[in-house]
Amino acid sequence: MSKAGCIFCKIANKEIPAKIVFENNQILAFEDVRPQAPTHILIIPKQHIEKISDLTESDTGMIGGLIVAAKDIANKQAVEKSGYRIVLNCNKDAGQEVFHIHLHLLGGRKFTWPPG
Ligand code: AMP
Repeated sequence: MSKAGCIFCKIANKEIPAKIVFENNQILAFEDVRPQAPTHILIIPKQHIEKISDLTESDTGMIGGLIVAAKDIANKQAVEKSGYRIVLNCNKDAGQEVFHIHLHLLGGRKFTWPPG
């Protein structure tokens, strides 16, 4: 389930600290250490999966759970009315730095489109 050396597995296992905002059996959400917006939360599965392109049909429920968790957190952080963005980077061209699937929940400012 966990991968040695993976920073997000270490956060999920409470081996290194993070500002946790939500947790259940499958999912952990915590503040991004380098926030790109007033609200910047990372939502991860506790199970180690490197990237979206590694997902299989059996991961459908888990991935859906990440999005529902993001919606609930957005409500709690009071950004649902102003709006927010959910970002999921896959691989190098998208800028994925941490190879453990994570949603970025970004809110509290206006975002541009197309993204950079
Ligand atoms: P990505 O570029 O999509 O892989 O995003 C990785 C994100 O993880 C970046 O926004 C980093 O700021 C964030 N990050 C890296 N290490 C930590 C950490 N220890 N705690 C919280 N966020 C982190």
